[in-house]
Amino acid sequence: MPGIMTYPNNFIRFLGTAGTRFIMLSQRRSSGGIWFSYGGARGVIDPGPGSLVRICEASPPLSPVDINTLILTHRHVDHSSDVNVLAEGMTLRAREPRGFVLLTKDCLADGDSVLMKYMTKKIDKTAFHEDGAIVHPAGGMSVESVLHFHHGVECYGLIFRGGGLPTWGLISDTAPMGYFPERYRDCELLIINVALAFPRSRLDHMSMPDATSLLAHMRPKMAVITHMGSDMLDMGEEFISARMSTAETKVVASRDGMIIDMDDIMNIKQPGGMER
Ligand SMILES: [Zn+2]
Ligand SMILES: [Zn+2]
Repeated sequence: MPGIMTYPNNFIRFLGTAGTRFIMLSQRRSSGGIWFSYGGARGVIDPGPGSLVRICEASPPLSPVDINTLILTHRHVDHSSDVNVLAEGMTLRAREPRGFVLLTKDCLADGDSVLMKYMTKKIDKTAFHEDGAIVHPAGGMSVESVLHFHHGVECYGLIFRGGGLPTWGLISDTAPMGYFPERYRDCELLIINVALAFPRSRLDHMSMPDATSLLAHMRPKMAVITHMGSDMLDMGEEFISARMSTAETKVVASRDGMIIDMDDIMNIKQPGGMER
């Protein structure tokens, strides 16, 4: 397979693009989360089932030992199950506690912690999301948390800034909120978890019409749709991309293994080296 030989200096790789428990359980799409190398931080957002495997199988190679940052947007198992093994990688060769973990308070709930207690002792810094709070995991970059609403668990979106690189944001699992355009306004790249093809009032997830109207307000240069449920996957990436793209915003529906060059966000490489 002719894929790329090396990664860009700063990049995002979609280890997984699965949305909903059904897609996770069938592994129709991987549920590995999002790898980022950005402004000195290297790590994974929402390492669900298969994250470690996807990292170890990646081409060009990635290694869990290189991770210095782990982020959970919320505690649901499709977003968190591999956090302990990746924390093991992050702290493997360190004599002192190492690495930065950003998560919700309910991820460390007494008696129900998704991050094992013995693992937390190996980690240098653990921070909790707070709406509008900004943390500095590594290098010159920062991460701001944005309050989400998602089925009764604490959940936050993310905005990455710094290092002279494009600002980018992730809207994680959430009901659509009216303040998103204001909060994410400086994002040149917006990644949106769009589980649903159509809104369903009892489900706290973004749908394709929700994301379309959000993008019409915000007009980022680039938007990537991920965390797709079965209705979205049935439509196919080409259809979603064509349907949602506008003159101002290029929209790409993600595939497992897709890479975005963060020094040139319009440069997206699909697995196998196919560019578009
Ligand atoms: Zn989810
Ligand atoms: Zn969730």
